[in-house]
Amino acid sequence: MDANAYVDFATLAVKAGQTPDPATGALNTPIYETTTFAYPDMATYEQKSQAALQWTPGYYFYSRSANPTTAALEQKVAALEGAEATAVTACGMGAVNAALMSLLDAGDHCVASDDLFVVSTQSLQQLYPAKGIQVDRVDITDHRQIEAAIRPNTKVLYLEALSNPHLKLADLDALAQLAHSRGLKLVVDNTFLSPCLLRPLDHGADLVIHSGTKYLAGHGDALCGLVSGKKELVDRVRDYSDMLGSHISPFDAWLVLRGIRTLHLRLERQCQNALALARWLKAQPQVAYVLYPGLEDHPQHALAQKLLPQGFGGMLAFHLTGGMEAMGRFVDALRSIPIATSLGDVGTLLDPLHRDDGLIRLSVGCEGLRDLTADLERGFAAL
Ligand SMILES: *Cc1c(COP(=O)(O)O)cnc(C)c1O
Repeated sequence: MDANAYVDFATLAVKAGQTPDPATGALNTPIYETTTFAYPDMATYEQKSQAALQWTPGYYFYSRSANPTTAALEQKVAALEGAEATAVTACGMGAVNAALMSLLDAGDHCVASDDLFVVSTQSLQQLYPAKGIQVDRVDITDHRQIEAAIRPNTKVLYLEALSNPHLKLADLDALAQLAHSRGLKLVVDNTFLSPCLLRPLDHGADLVIHSGTKYLAGHGDALCGLVSGKKELVDRVRDYSDMLGSHISPFDAWLVLRGIRTLHLRLERQCQNALALARWLKAQPQVAYVLYPGLEDHPQHALAQKLLPQGFGGMLAFHLTGGMEAMGRFVDALRSIPIATSLGDVGTLLDPLHRDDGLIRLSVGCEGLRDLTADLERGFAAL
């Protein structure tokens, strides 16, 4: 059945993009480990390769550009995002840079959030200025700062829907209106929430980006990036991803396809666990503050209730009253929660952010809550 006929996100997560293999009837999408595709004759070669080079769905020429397994993942994610098209890349940074390069040329200007994933920040501070593209960073919760930063040559407003690591929530409807009234494209990295909790295209974003490595893959076993939006814009992203050599491998695409089938179940548990842990952490005397949009005292709690009716996500951050020194003792006392960067895995991960003066970022997993609090209690006992 056509994915467009389903009404529930859960059904799309399980079924979209995955139709029985036309050659064999295999119910699950095969891993097409092939670099190239053979044609029976010259006329078919001409027709199919031309169609593939224009990014026509279902046409394959060479797997740097498109492949049946990676295309199945694109169809699944497009259905989840409510997008005309999705381009898959080798990792989230491949997606961020293919998207930004497709919209920004030398002489252009980009207004970007001051709170972004660290490598996105590096790209905006090093890569783009070195190539003649100016970038200004602003607090995207202050819309006057954004207005003031816009110049005649500004082309893009770039932000994270829920930001890494300080969990600032973007008022997407208002920001889309602001961006479009000034002729800018709104590009949103939605890695922290996933399309299960928020679909930025529904709120006016032009392109939505994911590090599929995180919640979509969900098991810490595959790198992946995704860019979704109108086909015209996504085709330009494909051109850049192709030139930059950023296509995903069929095997990693297959792992992400499989991971997405339980995305809604994982996030339901992760949202419950994260809200419970945020409240529990806030009640600990050694905790200075907790950042989580589901807490009533989060500065954007009202906006979060409006934008995130299904749950406030699995990411939270907290700061110990003892700062950096306390963080070291706390983290060293943990026995089950691993100290590891990355996020969105089925298992909880803790990232001690040295650069943020002792902010502890938790990517809350699907474990039982009692085991999670028991481990964190070992940390508090060591202070
Ligand atoms: C991890 C991450 C990225 C980069 O993704 P990779 O798959 O690691 O390249 C981009 N944006 C955000 C918000 C991330 O957390």
